Amino acid sequence: MDNIAIVWFRNDLRLHDNEMLTDAIQKAKFVLPLYVFDPGIFTGTTSFGFEKTAKFRTKFILESVEDLRKQLRLKGSDLIIRIGKPEEEIFIIAKEYKSSWVYCNRERTDEEVKVQDRVEKKLWTIGQELRFCRGKMLYYTADLPFPISQVPDTFSGYRKEIEYSVPLRKPLPVPEAIPFPDFKDDRGVLPTLADFSKGDLPADHIENQNFKGGETEGLKHLNHFVWETNQIASYKDTRNQLLGWSFSTKLSAWLSTGCLSPKYVIEQKLKFEEKVIKNESTYWLYFELLWRDYFRLMGKKYENRIFQPRGISHHDPGGSVDYALFGLWATGMTGVPFIDANMRQLNSTGFMSNRGRQNVASFLVKDLNIKWLMGAEYFESLLLDYDPCSNYGNWNHIAGVGNDAKDDKYYNILAQSRKYDPEGKFIKYWIPELRPIPAHMVHDPGMMNQEDQHKYGVILGKDYPMAVTTKASRLKIEKTG
Ligand SMILES: Cc1cc2nc3c(=O)[nH]c(=O)nc-3n(C[C@H](O)[C@H](O)[C@H](O)COP(=O)(O)OP(=O)(O)OC[C@H]3O[C@@H](n4cnc5c(N)ncnc54)[C@H](O)[C@@H]3O)c2cc1C
Repeated sequence: MDNIAIVWFRNDLRLHDNEMLTDAIQKAKFVLPLYVFDPGIFTGTTSFGFEKTAKFRTKFILESVEDLRKQLRLKGSDLIIRIGKPEEEIFIIAKEYKSSWVYCNRERTDEEVKVQDRVEKKLWTIGQELRFCRGKMLYYTADLPFPISQVPDTFSGYRKEIEYSVPLRKPLPVPEAIPFPDFKDDRGVLPTLADFSKGDLPADHIENQNFKGGETEGLKHLNHFVWETNQIASYKDTRNQLLGWSFSTKLSAWLSTGCLSPKYVIEQKLKFEEKVIKNESTYWLYFELLWRDYFRLMGKKYENRIFQPRGISHHDPGGSVDYALFGLWATGMTGVPFIDANMRQLNSTGFMSNRGRQNVASFLVKDLNIKWLMGAEYFESLLLDYDPCSNYGNWNHIAGVGNDAKDDKYYNILAQSRKYDPEGKFIKYWIPELRPIPAHMVHDPGMMNQEDQHKYGVILGKDYPMAVTTKASRLKIEKTG
C-alpha cells in the first residue's frame, strides 16, 4: 500500500495556515483527514459537577466540523468522522490502512496532553508514530528570543521583548489539492446536539444568530470586521461596550476552535494598514492577540499550576465551596444587576464580553469569597470560546494567583456598571424585570425606597433579589462577631 498520513484534526478546524495538513501533503502520497468526537468531552462533567461542554460550544464545534468536511470535499478529499476515544478510533484506522504517520497539532495542557500521549503510545504498538505540528499561536515558540522557562513574568515585559524584534510568519496557503486514499469503510455521520443530549439554543439573541462555527463563517466574519465595515479602525474606542454585536472583534470562538489562524488575522490587519489606515485601533488587535499568546506561554511555562487552587504564584487565595451562594452567581440572581446581566448573557448565549468576565470573576472571588476554580470551571462549561490557557490564565490573574502580583486587582462593580453601562441598557436587556427603573437607580436597585419600588412595580426580594453582597457581608460580620 502506498504511504498514507492520517491528519487528526482537533482545535485546528481549518484549511488555511494549517501546518499539519501542509506537512502531511508534502510527506505522504495520500492524506486521510479525521475528526474524533470524544464523548468524555461532550457528555462528561467537571470536578464541581458542571457539564464539561455545554450546548453553545458543542453546537459551534459541530458546525465547524461540518464545514471542515465540506471544505475538504471541495479539494477532492473528505473528513472521516468517528465518535469514541481518540486513541481507539485512530488506532483502528491507522492499523487497517497501515498509515505511515499520524499528524496532529501539539496541545500543551494537561487533559489534551494525556489524550495525545495515549494516542502516541497506542500507535507505538504497531510501529507508527504521532508527528506534532504547530499553529495555535501568532508567534512560534522557536522564534522567541528566550526559552519557555525564561518568558518574562509580566505581559508588558514580554510584549516589549518581542513586538519590534521578532518577525511575524506568513500564514501557510490553503492546499491546492489533498490526495485522498481508497477508503472503503464508513466515512461517518456528523452527530447532532441530541446525540450528546443537548437541547437547542434560544434564537432570539444576536450572539446566537451570529456565532456560527466553521472556517467559512470565521473568514466571513473577519472580512466583515476588517473590510466591509472597517470596524478595525475604531476598535480601541468601542471594544469595552457591552450590548450588541459590533464593538469588540468577536473573533475568540473561531480562534479557540482553530477555524481562524491568528497569523491570518494579523495578515489582514497589516493589509488593512497598508491600504486603508494604520492607527491605535488597528494596533490594538495585535495587542490583544499578544495577550492570547502570552497566556498560552504561561500555560507552557508553568504547566499544571494554572489549574491548581494556588495557581502560578503558589499563594493560597482562600475561598469557600458554597454551592448555594455560587448558584446565585451562576444563575444571575445575586441582586447585583451588572453581575446578573452578564451571567444571564453567558447562560443564554455562551458569550460574555471581556469587561463582563473581569467583573463577574472578581465579584465571585473577592466579594463572595468563593473558590476561583468553581468560577473557572463554570466558564469552561459555558463559554463558546473556551480555551484552557486563556480561561485558567485569566482566572489566575483575577484571583491573584497568577505570575504577576500586580494583577491582583479588585473591581468595584457599581463603579464599573455606571462607567460601562451608563444608561443601563445592557442591564435592562438581560434583566427585563428591571426595565421600568430609571437609569440612575438601575445599577443599584437598593437605592429605591418603598415608594419607588411601588411606583416602578419592582419589589425587591419579590420581583428581583436583594443584593447578595449585603447578605454575604452581613453573614461575615455575624460570623466574626
Ligand atoms: C475570567 C476570564 C476568562 C476568559 N476566558 C477566555 C477563554 O476561555 N477563551 C478566550 O478566548 N478568551 C477568554 N478570555 C479573554 C477575553 O475575555 C475574550 O477573549 C474576549 O472577551 C472575546 O471577545 P472578542 O473576541 O470580541 O475579544 P476582543 O476584545 O476583540 O479581543 C480580540 C482577541 O484577542 C484575544 N484576547 C483578548 N483579550 C484576551 C485575554 N484577556 N486573554 C486571552 N485572549 C484575549 C482573543 O482571542 C480575542 O478574540 C477570558 C477573560 C477573562 C477575564
